Amino acid sequence: MSSIILEARDIRYRYPRGMEAICGISFHIRRKEKIALVGPNGAGKSTLLTMFNGMIRPDTGLMLFDDQPIRYDTASLRMLRKRVGFVLQNPDRQIIAPTVYQDVAFGPTNLGYSQSEVKEAVTQALRHVGLEGFERRPPHQLSGGEKKRVAIAGVLAMDSDVLVFDEPTSGLDPLGSEDIMELLDELNHEGKTIIISTHDVELAYPWADRAILMLNGKILKEDIPEVAFGNPESVRTAHLSLPILLELHMELQKRGFLLTGKKPRTVLDMMHCIDTLFEHSRSHSRHGMITVCNVDQDNGENLSEWLSVHTGICTGAMGTRAKQCAEKFCINLDFTYGVIDKCILKALLGEDCLILTTESMVKRVYLRVDAYGLESGVRIPVHQLTIAPGEANEKNGSAP
Ligand code: ADP
Repeated sequence: MSSIILEARDIRYRYPRGMEAICGISFHIRRKEKIALVGPNGAGKSTLLTMFNGMIRPDTGLMLFDDQPIRYDTASLRMLRKRVGFVLQNPDRQIIAPTVYQDVAFGPTNLGYSQSEVKEAVTQALRHVGLEGFERRPPHQLSGGEKKRVAIAGVLAMDSDVLVFDEPTSGLDPLGSEDIMELLDELNHEGKTIIISTHDVELAYPWADRAILMLNGKILKEDIPEVAFGNPESVRTAHLSLPILLELHMELQKRGFLLTGKKPRTVLDMMHCIDTLFEHSRSHSRHGMITVCNVDQDNGENLSEWLSVHTGICTGAMGTRAKQCAEKFCINLDFTYGVIDKCILKALLGEDCLILTTESMVKRVYLRVDAYGLESGVRIPVHQLTIAPGEANEKNGSAP
């Protein structure tokens, strides 16, 4: 199986009675990548996205899925749309049924699943997006973030390999946006290829594995974000702004500071650059410890008990179920997004942290802390919390 899941070969498209919206584009997307199409309004991002599941057919050129040219007969499109799920910018245009259950069931029912398979798919999908218990609710009574989650559940219920999101955070407040971006990370971590379109540089820059900068129906640049956004001139040409961390890094360099290592993608990277300039700032007598709690194993009550003993600890939740667990047990969260990096930053200042997360994400905490340790030479201890009823202890662990 090739590593490439989607490919465009010199595609062009003109809307009927419109101007050319896609003007000779070629690219490929690998399995399990997180791709951000970034460009100003009218750049052609949405048009390009709709070609990924065959909603629009290029006038010339070729779109390939799984190494096969996309075919546009009804049966082929049906199969393609099972494998490439699409979440529209405006959930009101995507949600059509009178209840959440019926809406999420629409895709699997159309794919011919049996009634019990549909029920299973809907239950799993709603659980995944944190909407258990919403089955009978009418979608129009939900908040913007909840509607977005219903739309995402509709796609998840079909178990697509590729998930395409047109402006995934549009209309959401900052916290709602962080929640959705974290959900996308979670899905990617579970093996989905994720493609988003956005004009929000600060959203795309730390998140994407690769950024594709678009303007006037063309690709201007395509690379890892620190390279794609690394040249102020080309970023301006794309009618975009520089990510603030890159700008700060460049300004420090212009002032003669010798910043070693890679360009910063996150505040943690930036602090590492700065720490290497001022070695003494790293000389805290003790680094804090990061404790990881797998909420899939713990029943929450023991966790509350543990927290009552370890007061004043910074706590972050990663993933929908972890956040639900925190809410259920009234655990105050300091971090709900970029949790691992934020905890590393705290640990560097000597503070202990707790990360609530789910089974599949525990390993990610260890891997990220290990990667930071290799890069910076700073070893931050990570422990996994294992609580048996009536006792509160910690297991000093290596990556599970
Ligand atoms: P973006 O998603 O980057 O904002 P779009 O793909 O929506 O850009 O639009 C690309 C170009 O295609 C724009 O010039 C836009 O005006 C035009 N366009 C988009 N939809 C239509 C349509 N239905 N009919 C005619 N022109 C359209």
